[in-house]
Amino acid sequence: MKTAGKGLESPVEVLPTIGAKRARALADADIHTLENLFYYFPRRYLDRTTTTPIRELQVHQEATVVGRIIQAGVQTGKKNRFVLVLSDESSLLTCIWFSHLRYRQQQFTVGEWLAVSGKVTRYKNLQMIHPEFDVLGDDKEGDGFNTGKIIPVYASTELLSKFGFDSRGFRRIINRLIELFSDMIKETLPEPVRHHYNLLPLPEALRAIHFPADFKELQRARERLKFDELFFLELMPALRRKNLVVTSGNVLQKVGGRVIALYKALPFELTEAQKRVTREIREDLKSGHGMNRLLQGDVGSGKTIVALFGLLIAVENGYQAALMAPTEILAEQHYLTLHEMLDKLGVCPVLLIGGQPNKQREIILQQIADGTAHIIVGTHALIQEGVAFKRLGLVIIDEQHRFGVMQRARLAEKGMNPHILVMTATPIPRSLTLTLYGDLDVSILDELPRGRKPVITAKRSEKDRKKVYTFVRDQVATGAQAYVVFPLVEESEKIDVKAAVESYEIMRDSFFKEFRVGLLHGRLKSEDKESVMAEFKAGDLDVLVSTTVIEVGVDVPNATIMIIEHAERFGLSQLHQLRGRVGRGEKQSYCILIGYGPLSREARERLNVLKATTDGFKIAQKDLELRGPGDYFGTRQSGLPDLRLADVVRDFDLLQNARKAAFGLIDEDPTLEEPSNAGTRSYFLRHYRRNFKLSWIS
Ligand code: ADP
Ligand code: MG
Repeated sequence: MKTAGKGLESPVEVLPTIGAKRARALADADIHTLENLFYYFPRRYLDRTTTTPIRELQVHQEATVVGRIIQAGVQTGKKNRFVLVLSDESSLLTCIWFSHLRYRQQQFTVGEWLAVSGKVTRYKNLQMIHPEFDVLGDDKEGDGFNTGKIIPVYASTELLSKFGFDSRGFRRIINRLIELFSDMIKETLPEPVRHHYNLLPLPEALRAIHFPADFKELQRARERLKFDELFFLELMPALRRKNLVVTSGNVLQKVGGRVIALYKALPFELTEAQKRVTREIREDLKSGHGMNRLLQGDVGSGKTIVALFGLLIAVENGYQAALMAPTEILAEQHYLTLHEMLDKLGVCPVLLIGGQPNKQREIILQQIADGTAHIIVGTHALIQEGVAFKRLGLVIIDEQHRFGVMQRARLAEKGMNPHILVMTATPIPRSLTLTLYGDLDVSILDELPRGRKPVITAKRSEKDRKKVYTFVRDQVATGAQAYVVFPLVEESEKIDVKAAVESYEIMRDSFFKEFRVGLLHGRLKSEDKESVMAEFKAGDLDVLVSTTVIEVGVDVPNATIMIIEHAERFGLSQLHQLRGRVGRGEKQSYCILIGYGPLSREARERLNVLKATTDGFKIAQKDLELRGPGDYFGTRQSGLPDLRLADVVRDFDLLQNARKAAFGLIDEDPTLEEPSNAGTRSYFLRHYRRNFKLSWIS
């Protein structure tokens, strides 16, 4: 078969029986090339060990049954139905469908083998209603289920089946593919890696994942292919890191008098964790290598002050330092904090956010460019065109999880390869740290400042709302401050803002008539946001009605009450973040989650988890379990490719091996130029280029 020298990148049309039309159907499922088809893995497998003989079926059991179709047709009656009778050697099973009756007639042929999965019920005979099914074939294809072979089952769609790509169609075409083109598969792992981890050669693995001889072989094939996914995933941070370490590394040797002055002036004692992390940062800054570090610390663990020490060290060494935050409110807050602490030390912080008046903006840009601005605090406005730093030595990114990997890279490009510290309060399970931030060293603030009391969390329903607000009133009357948060769903920001505004008016005029109530949401002008926040911080507002704009970072220690309306609409991490806005001082704090309507099982579980623990790491782990890693990776932001087989949580050991192998390889061959690594290089470029800026390897 000719493939015009393109090997596995040849279009699927080079396969027999695939013309333009069928190719288009495949393209719809993102299968364009021979390689795509090789990597179209079975959804599941059938054999004697995964199926149940009909005679052994129990009522209510979920089961998969394989049998031959002995009868199929529409039965008319009170309600028309499509009835199909399956037989294995042991007994008979009736399958019933109430919809698409005519279409069913074409789907099934008496005499063919069929696998059905579903819940077993009994009405005279054993039956399944609307089971899932896969047409297995008629034995002539060598599909014979009788032989006890493992049969792959492929996902299909209506469009695909229309063009003959039901599960059986895929089995046939992939069988042909393997016959004709297996020898085009090039090994993608370096031989030493493959040997060291005792992995199947790629051609063998790609055959065996489709047509395994037995489950042991299937297991080996899966392991090899999972390793590949994780290995290439880790190659990205390995390359990124190598590039950074090699090219960066301003030596910031001095600690400096103003750093010591700041330390002495602190109104509190640093926690041991804060001291340790500050030391780690200091070591990086003077090491001669570029710092590339992630600081993980739960909400309220005191990351800001640690960051501040870093910023100040940079300034003491004659550099500028930047602090980037994901929201204007947070940037503003950081600016005020720094301003207060640094002014008397003669250090000049400036604030750069979108929406500042042009005149003001020009002045600030000028100060950044000529170096009179020492510390630059801002939002992503910092990485926009037209912002030029004089001598940027350190970049700190707060709440990193709100930014993408790419944005981090962009700010880094602005400086003369500045040191980089990213901070996050969303604790991520270690498995994900490795993948999302695999190129970073990790520091952890695992200690809260002394005297903090855990926030008391309660779950309430809509009908308790009055009681909840009575409680809030009583608390506010004794000097507490409260947040009342309404959800904001991105798609309908306008509607949600409206909801928040209306609720604000109601609260102001009823529940909290005699108190001072403020309103905050994303659509306010920057200066209005600033002034509302400033009033709340100064204690001039008792209650702040807000959308989720206060979700991250906001620090008002006197605020001790967090009411979350429609708590069922929030994700677990988000709820944890919101709750983190209280409990930041020594006073007892409360978080009340108000759920509306009958809650879904997951929503209930989320709220229960939040009630049960305040440990951010536990919450993150639970969040991961509830949402699945797909959600973490699927986000536009993450800039990471999909994993089809591997699961960073379940396959954590494999992940660590793959990581070791990837980092080891890049250590030896930083640009993958060695001829022996050509297969790795070409696969990487083919599939990961999109996810990665490859300026130094291409
Ligand atoms: P986060 O880690 O969530 O960013 P912040 O840096 O905002 O936390 O700190 C939370 C609050 O705790 C702030 O009001 C801060 O001044 C205070 N704080 C930080 N470190 C300490 C400490 N060692 N002792 C007491 N209070 C502290
Ligand atoms: Mg913070």
